[in-house]
Order: sequence, then C-alpha cells, then structure tokens
Amino acid sequence: MKKEFVVIGLGSFGSTVCKELHQLGHDVLAIDVSEDKVKELSDYSSYAVTANATDENALKSLGIRNFDHAIVAIGENIQPSILCTLILKELGIKRVWVKAKNVKHHKILEKIGADRIIHPEQEIGVRIAHQLDSGKIIDYIELSEDYSIVEMKATKKVANQSLLELDIRSKFGCTILAIKQKNHMNISPLPDDIIRLDDILVVMGHVDDLKVFQEKGL
Ligand code: ADP
Repeated sequence: MKKEFVVIGLGSFGSTVCKELHQLGHDVLAIDVSEDKVKELSDYSSYAVTANATDENALKSLGIRNFDHAIVAIGENIQPSILCTLILKELGIKRVWVKAKNVKHHKILEKIGADRIIHPEQEIGVRIAHQLDSGKIIDYIELSEDYSIVEMKATKKVANQSLLELDIRSKFGCTILAIKQKNHMNISPLPDDIIRLDDILVVMGHVDDLKVFQEKGL
C-alpha cells in the first residue's frame, strides 16, 4: 500500500531512507536546508524542497500536518533536530522517527515524544557483530535489550522435519515466525510445514534462548 512520508535532513542516512522509500513506491517529501542536497534528491523523491525544518511556518506551509510519518535525520547538530521533532509532534504527526547522535540527544528526544529513536551506526554494529559471531546467523534485529528476531539458515539437523516434530518452542522457547524458501516466503507457518536444507528461518525469542537454539538446535 502506498504511504506518505516526509524525510527531513538529507545526509547519507536521510537520503538513503528517502531513495529507498521512493523506490518502494511511496510518496516522499524530502526536505533539507541545503539547496544542493535537495537538488541531488529531486529525482529520488516525490517532492524535494529547500526549507529550514526549525521554522514552524515553513513546515506548515508545506502541508506537513497531512503526513502520518516523518523521519528526522538532521545529524551534525542536536538543537535543530530537537526543535524540528518538537514542532512535528505539536503539529500532531503520529509517527516521528528521529536519528539520534548521542545519549543526551536520545534522552531529550524521548522526553519530547519521538516515537522511535534510531542510532544507525550502533544498530548496524550490533547486527554485524551477531553475523560475525555465528556463521549460522544471516540477520539480527534487536527488539529490546532481551528479545530479538534472528534469521538463521536451516542445517541438516533440522532439515526434512516438520515444526511439530522439531518442537522448537517447547524445547528452546523460540518461535519460528516465518520460513523463507527459494522463491517463497511462508509467513505464520503451520505445525505440519516441513523445513528444507538451506531454508532461512525467521526466529523470535529471548536472546539467551536464541543462542542456545543456534548452538544446540541447529
Ligand atoms: P548523516 O550523518 O546521515 O550524513 P548529516 O549530519 O551529514 O547526516 O546530514 C544532516 C543533514 O541535515 C544535512 O544535509 C543538513 O543540511 C541537514 N540539516 C541540518 N539542519 C537542518 C535544518 N534546520 N533543516 C533542514 N535540514 C537541516
């Protein structure tokens, strides 16, 4: 379904988010205070506009109120990022996701109602470390300090068995959310579904349980 997003701040993070959303077929309003950045994004967004995102009237005149989802990716300076987030929340934008620079920035964003606070470098660092830690892990998404979703490759140990036979939930406390096969994604798999060698299992659970499953169950 086509959605509408506003991306504010077109550095390497913001411009990547903007291009990717545009490529996925969504409407994206791209905003930056730098005319050059805006020009660079004009072919990769629905509308690209030069504006100062700390200027409430400028944002209002762009019809920001009509957007459900904003991404604030103003990087180098925390003050405009905070001010812009505050304006967006006061204008009633439901989901405001903000890139944070440091712990202090994170705490302030939390207090003023940012809906998600992103630390791109730390988040990618965690994912890469988990991929390095285990050859079996393809991708890793942290849900909270304790819970994660992990993509793992099915090994011989689980191949050609059904979820019922494997009984992963009671043995390891982990839930198989999906099974990715070559050209098919089986979401919410059934107990009788068979796992094949090299299928990719999307598994959710406590980090301790996921580690045990990865070491002993696969
Ligand atoms: P990254 O680390 O993702 O590359 P940068 O800090 O380089 O992020 O980029 C932040 C972007 O935010 C820059 O393109 C900058 O021009 C833009 N920016 C900074 N302040 C404002 C503002 N007040 N309004 C709109 N854009 C801004």
